[in-house]
Amino acid sequence: MSILATSIKFLPSVGEKRAALLREEIGVETYGDLALYAPTRYIDRSKFYTIRELMAGEINVDVQIKAKITSVQSIGTGRGARLVVTVYDGTAMAEMIWFRSSSWVLKSLDREHNFIFFGRPTIFNGHLSMVHPEFEISGVSGGVTEQGVQGVYRTTEKLKNNFLGTRAIAKLVRILYSKIEGKVEETLPEWVTAKMGLISREEALRNLHLPQSSAMLASALYRLKFEELFCIQLNLLQSKGIREEHSVGYVFDRVGEKFNSFYSNVLDFELTGAQKRVVREIRENTATGHQMNRLLQGDVGSGKTIVALLAALLAVDNGGQCALMAPTEILATQHYESLAPMCEKIGVTIELLTGSTRKKKRTEILTALADGSLNILIGTHALIEDPVKFSELKLVIIDEQHRFGVMQRAKLHTKNEKIPPHILVMTATPIPRTLSMTLYGDLDVSIIDELPPGRIPIKTIHAKESGRLGVMGFIRDEIKKGRQCYIVYPAIDENDKIDIASIEEGAVAISEFFPAEKGYCNVVVHGKMTTALKEYGMKMFKDGEADILIATTVIEVGVNVPNATVMVIENAERFGLSQLHQLRGRVGRGSNESWCVLMTGDKLSREGRARMEAMVESTDGFYIAQKDMELRGAGDIDGTRQSGEAIDIHFSDLAKDTEILESARALALATIERDPVLSAPVNFPLRLAVATLRAEKGATDLDLDLSKIS
Ligand code: ADP
Ligand code: MG
Repeated sequence: MSILATSIKFLPSVGEKRAALLREEIGVETYGDLALYAPTRYIDRSKFYTIRELMAGEINVDVQIKAKITSVQSIGTGRGARLVVTVYDGTAMAEMIWFRSSSWVLKSLDREHNFIFFGRPTIFNGHLSMVHPEFEISGVSGGVTEQGVQGVYRTTEKLKNNFLGTRAIAKLVRILYSKIEGKVEETLPEWVTAKMGLISREEALRNLHLPQSSAMLASALYRLKFEELFCIQLNLLQSKGIREEHSVGYVFDRVGEKFNSFYSNVLDFELTGAQKRVVREIRENTATGHQMNRLLQGDVGSGKTIVALLAALLAVDNGGQCALMAPTEILATQHYESLAPMCEKIGVTIELLTGSTRKKKRTEILTALADGSLNILIGTHALIEDPVKFSELKLVIIDEQHRFGVMQRAKLHTKNEKIPPHILVMTATPIPRTLSMTLYGDLDVSIIDELPPGRIPIKTIHAKESGRLGVMGFIRDEIKKGRQCYIVYPAIDENDKIDIASIEEGAVAISEFFPAEKGYCNVVVHGKMTTALKEYGMKMFKDGEADILIATTVIEVGVNVPNATVMVIENAERFGLSQLHQLRGRVGRGSNESWCVLMTGDKLSREGRARMEAMVESTDGFYIAQKDMELRGAGDIDGTRQSGEAIDIHFSDLAKDTEILESARALALATIERDPVLSAPVNFPLRLAVATLRAEKGATDLDLDLSKIS
């Protein structure tokens, strides 16, 4: 057994109690966990600041000063009791403050020595202070100054109160290294470390915590990131390879009559270059005899529907049926309404099946589906519920993927006893390339990165609360021109303590500006309403009966109303960038100039401001997605949350480590090409790593769920 598997409680000075705390608070259970517990940043412990220097400006990191104690005072009683130690370093005075358990502090301090205080300085009323600083006598042998560059660790209040502050953790790490030195196993094959010029695992882990130099720290991080991304890619590419090899799929080898007659007689615009490329990718993919599992990413309005139809016609020309599923009835209906007239022209049968389909019609549809006379069926995910039996389902298209549970997707398999249908998942939430490669690296991905020509770009404006009257006036003018307007609020969330304008309050305020007596019609739609009520409200707006749709994000993937020209987003700072972008895509669908107004409070955080700026600056969904990832981190951006724990990345930052990811992917591809299941003896460590990765990801694995479909 590897020494890294040793329980942390056996590490000298830890023991049962602190081991339990380390496990509960930071998930450190073994030597290995601690070795991988990366510092959040580094400080040079040989560097000192003077108090005067620190008073010159707010420094938001922990720093060291070296000072002598001039006075010690206990102030207050009860909860407010605190120990205030005044120190002087020759440049200025500062206060060191302890609120609790201060008797040990008193015992450890004296006036003779110079002390090193380490903590976060705050400046208040011209006084510099540090709360609960770590300290030690300066100049002792083995003291902090001898440590040079050192990691600073994330810790918690509870750990700190139990003498496990960042410095204590650093000390544990040093003890750990004395125990494991020379015993850390290499986890990458020699050919990989040699080819990529990587330092050994032991060296990497040591330098991660106790860097010999900043160059060694960089090498350590490179090695750990590369290994992490390489193993993730190996896992994805291996399952992709296995699936492709073992999967059987319908062969679409004909571009037949329906496809051609649609293309030359019905389609009244030229496909964009990106659309053509994607159609080609789908054709190539469905001609191989293996099942297609393709993700199609394209911004709102990039023209995915036509691509979906062409794919459906390909299936029809090759003797199959196609199911097209949308997340809501409204969207399904919209698809049906836009596709049915085109299908009619080329003699392709198409029907819509939803919860509101009448019984008689439903029976008709099911019969036609079972006898094969129905070519294309559009619906919601109700389509994959049991009574729906296709005669020859060969293609399933899923619109707006993230609205579907993976299990629902998995159910598709049972629809067809023979060969599984090809699957095309379309999403309008663009995902940055690095994230896409990591999340969907086992799928084939097509991208439409070009909008049809002639679009009038949506103008985006950031307005603050103080400008509300102006915004309302603007809406009034648009309504006067006969246009419609969306006003969107963040979703209602009872647990949310932050005082956000609730949609009900908002609706009242808006009806004061736009009262029914003056002929305005406002409808309110939010997530807590019944589906029927929601869809009724949306329908009123869609049919042009309502001027203003006041809604929560239920409309995110909602309606297509070309007459709507204004999208006002309230509390815009509370939305993720991708979500803002999705919402913005609801307007600009007609021939009129459209606006998106981002309403925020007068005061905004720096990040909030950066997000508003990104929105005002660009209408490109891929750019927005990239910005979103940079601002919020990869784990948090829309599109990843829906897939749960699908990515568990420890060292790498998908927003920044693009180059490492690219080279890891390239090497993983080459490796899997040569050794598809990593059975070569030299690749044994890789096989082990991939197996561990799978075991860790367990049942939540997107990849495993997908394999159920194939
Ligand atoms: P989305 O990708 O958001 O689903 P749609 O497929 O709904 O986009 O397309 C948006 C609009 O653009 C539709 O009205 C569609 O007919 C039109 N459209 C699609 N492709 C083109 C093209 N190549 N040239 C002109 N208009 C196009
Ligand atoms: Mg669409």
